[in-house]
Amino acid sequence: MVPEAADVLRMMLQTTVFAAARSRSHGPTAAQWHAVELHRPTAEIDGACELTVCGTLARVAPDQTWPLPSTDVCPVCAVLAP
Ligand SMILES: [Zn+2]
Repeated sequence: MVPEAADVLRMMLQTTVFAAARSRSHGPTAAQWHAVELHRPTAEIDGACELTVCGTLARVAPDQTWPLPSTDVCPVCAVLAP
């Protein structure tokens, strides 16, 4: 699918916005906050599972904004989405 020129222009004008997403804990690995690159309004991805910057799936928390002051933040996302 080829995006229309107007869409391409809109994408170019957009600055990258990150949302915070909470991963599930896997056994000994505690749940962490990840960054998700946003291409849609946060309202549209409320509670949706999105691919995070570090490549895992996490549930977007629209009431949280990235970066988080929390300590349990994914170190990979913290580097890739400052
Ligand atoms: Zn991450």
